[in-house]
Amino acid sequence: MNKAYFFDMDGVLFDSMPNHAIAWEEVMKQHGLPFTVRDCYINEGRTGESVIREAILKAYSREATPEEIQTIYAEKSSYYTMLEQKAGGTPVINGVASVLEFVQSCGDQIWVVTGSGMRTLLDKLNKVLPPVFSTDRMITAFDVVKGKPDPEPYIKAWERSGMAKEQCIVVENAPLGIQSGKAAGLVVYAVNTGILEREDLLNAGADKVFNSMQELLIDLKTENSTY
Ligand code: CA
Repeated sequence: MNKAYFFDMDGVLFDSMPNHAIAWEEVMKQHGLPFTVRDCYINEGRTGESVIREAILKAYSREATPEEIQTIYAEKSSYYTMLEQKAGGTPVINGVASVLEFVQSCGDQIWVVTGSGMRTLLDKLNKVLPPVFSTDRMITAFDVVKGKPDPEPYIKAWERSGMAKEQCIVVENAPLGIQSGKAAGLVVYAVNTGILEREDLLNAGADKVFNSMQELLIDLKTENSTY
């Protein structure tokens, strides 16, 4: 039975979360807002706007102004870009290339389901990872009204895949992404590529939690040899 794999991007394909966390923590601090690296990982997948709204509500018990949201988000984005440029680009997650190659060798579908709205995404993906991606198998910020943790991104991917739900597997790293996949009624494999506890991912509803892409690959190979 062929399958469709829905890969999240940040923290699953790209190791971008460490720099996102540094940028969020630093810029929030400059605005007097308490925000930890763990806060960043727990909130991963939410829009910048809602993260800023919540931080200001918590710190000052009031609504954020549109100017505050705009300023803080712009500062965070430019800080992140600076970190990325300093590092010479974003590294890929260790071992994910082998997972992608194995999935492709099985003849299964490979999708990217991300909240990112970067128009050059496909070029970036196919440049640094095995060239297994195509524009017609991508769900980005341009395809959905509601982002994760809403199920919409994964429901869209499932609908377009033409597969039955039990043939679709979501690969996620963050609690809100896991919730999105589960709310869409799909199987969710979590790979813990960040600083969260295994329980954070299990409590979000993950069907399986792996500590690395290498562990996921072993599981896929074992499953694949049984049918
Ligand atoms: Ca993610």
